[in-house]
Order: sequence, then C-alpha cells, then structure tokens
Amino acid sequence: MLYKTIDKEDLKNLIDVHLHDVECIGPRQVGTNAKGRPLYQFLPVSSFDDMDLDYDTTEYSAKTYFLPYKEVLSTFHFDDSGWTQDITYRKHPRIIVGLHRCDINGLVKLDKVFAKEFHPNPYYLSRRGNTLIIGIGCHKHCEGGFCSSIGSDSVTHGFDLFLTDIGDRYFVKVGSDRGFNALNKINVRDISDEDRNQYLSNRNNFESSFKKTVKVENLPNLLDIEFESEVWKKWGDKCMSCGSCAMVCPTCYCYGVTENLSMDFKKSEKTKQLYSCNLYDFAQVAGGHNFRPARETRLKYRYYHQHRGFVETFGQPMCVGCNRCSRVCLAGINPTEVIRDIQMEHGR
Ligand code: SF4
Ligand code: SF4
Repeated sequence: MLYKTIDKEDLKNLIDVHLHDVECIGPRQVGTNAKGRPLYQFLPVSSFDDMDLDYDTTEYSAKTYFLPYKEVLSTFHFDDSGWTQDITYRKHPRIIVGLHRCDINGLVKLDKVFAKEFHPNPYYLSRRGNTLIIGIGCHKHCEGGFCSSIGSDSVTHGFDLFLTDIGDRYFVKVGSDRGFNALNKINVRDISDEDRNQYLSNRNNFESSFKKTVKVENLPNLLDIEFESEVWKKWGDKCMSCGSCAMVCPTCYCYGVTENLSMDFKKSEKTKQLYSCNLYDFAQVAGGHNFRPARETRLKYRYYHQHRGFVETFGQPMCVGCNRCSRVCLAGINPTEVIRDIQMEHGR
C-alpha cells in the first residue's frame, strides 16, 4: 500500500477539477429526524461544498449506484424478419466520495458475489469499473453501529483512495493505479514521521473508543443448532414484512426479474428489481406454492443468509454492522438483539 499526504484544500481542488466531466456523489444532509439528528444521503453534488464529510452515517447505503433498485437488463424488438436484443451498460465515469469503512467493506462483499464469481455480472462490473471510490475514516460513532464487533471497522482494499483526517491535512492510502493517477492533478507529499504518528494515534483512539456490542465468532454454528428456536417466532411476529431493511442494507442483493411484452407483441423488456427475502411472496413459485409463507421463516432466512450461508461460501458474514436495517425498521427489530437472543437461547 502506498501512503501520501494532501492538504484539505487539495481534496476540494481534486473534486472540483473532476466535477466538470464526471458525476460526483457524496454525503449530503437532507433534513433532521424527530430528535434533531441530521439525516444524510449519498446524492449527486455540484460542488465540493455540497458535501458534509463529517457525517456519521447515511440512511440508505451507496449500493444503489452499483445495484439500482430497478434496471432494464435488455430490450427485445420483434418483427416479421426475426428479433433483435439491445443491452446497455453504464459507461459514464463517476466518483463516490466519503464512503466509510463499513460501506467499502459492503462493496467488497458485493464484489465477491457479482465480480469474482464464475459468471461475473456485467451490469455491476460496468458500474464498479467506472466508479472512483474515495473513502474516508469516520470519527463519529453512528447510532447503534456494530462494525467493530463484526470486523468491518478496518479496510484494506475496495477503494481507490482512502483518507484519514490528521488535522489540517489528510493521510491518504492509495488503493489503485486509478487513485494514484487522480492524485497527479493536485499537490501531494510523501508522508513524514509526524504524519505517520498522527495517523496511528488517531486510529488507536478511534479503535479504543469502540465497545464490542455483539459476539459473532461462533454464530454460524449457533444458527445451525438454533434453527427451530422460538427466537425466530418472537422476532418474526413483530416483522411487518415491509422489506425496508433489505433496501437500505449495503449488502442485500436478492432480486427478481420480470419480462414485459407490449400489447402489439413488437417489443419486450427484461427488468431486474431488488427484492427482499422478508416480502411475503419472496419464496413463492409458479403454481402458487410459497415455501416461506410465515413471517418468522422469512426473517430467519435473512439472518441465515447474512450470518450462515455467506460465511460458508465466502468465509465472512455478509453483514457489515452499519445498523441501517435497525434504524429503518418500524417494528424495532435490531440485529444485535436478535443475535444476542440466539446466544442466550444457546446458553440457557
Ligand atoms: S424493516 Fe423490520 S418490519 Fe420491515 S421487513 Fe425488515 S425486519 Fe421486518
Ligand atoms: S444487515 Fe443491517 S447492520 Fe448488517 S449490513 Fe445490512 S443494514 Fe447493515
């Protein structure tokens, strides 16, 4: 890993230079909640000053810029001589500024599913490949976040540049050639001993300020044992099957595909839409049979995918501990409480 230092003013210059020809996305305040807490979202910006890089978290993750909630996969045209198919991939470059460690780790997990598998997803790859990621270390704890408990409070790859605030300048981890080339447009210095010490001191302070709120080390085994636990009914009875948790989650990626044929049979569109395993018809198949008609089995499925199946396939949980699902849930379902309940069940 290559490390550099830039003045804060130069980050502004870097973004403003790119804004002329590249779409730029960053954290913007969009209002406040009932308690007066500022609410943020990743949104397009037209100047560096539109962003607030001191934000704690965003309500939605930046997933939508890689996996849109709805996208047309292909369009078909039919006529007497045959048919044609049009497929369009996103080619326009984009910069996303201000992703925190948990959200970059979320992208790395999506990469495992969509970019590193035997059949990479070209729609995802075109967006990922055309997006410069400038991450930044958070220095405020977000409400209920448990990234340190689940191991996503540090990041080693998945970004082009990663910034840590060290006073009047940023300590910059360069994560790719593209990130290195982007720095060519501004003043960059080699790191000094003072920069390094300040970075390590900030990092240590940040790490020691976290409390582990949930243990996940043995969770896949516990889930195997507690498949029939009453805990699933307890939390499933609260769930309203709205699917909001999956929509805001940086790593939930389940989707459905529909085909719409025009009334004159001349055109058809294949559309992909993100879906949630908590929705009633998620496991409904042709003929009408529903493999998971009960709310508790659907809620359980989401936890098993996040903390059991993904671990078996990729050696790590899918969840990054951002706690967005808990903040959005009107039923008050919180992953740390569900996991603790399972652990208590086992220890009983
Ligand atoms: S947001 Fe809450 S109520 Fe809605 S599906 Fe998710 S767990 Fe259930
Ligand atoms: S399951 Fe909840 S806490 Fe985990 S990554 Fe998704 S939104 Fe964040």
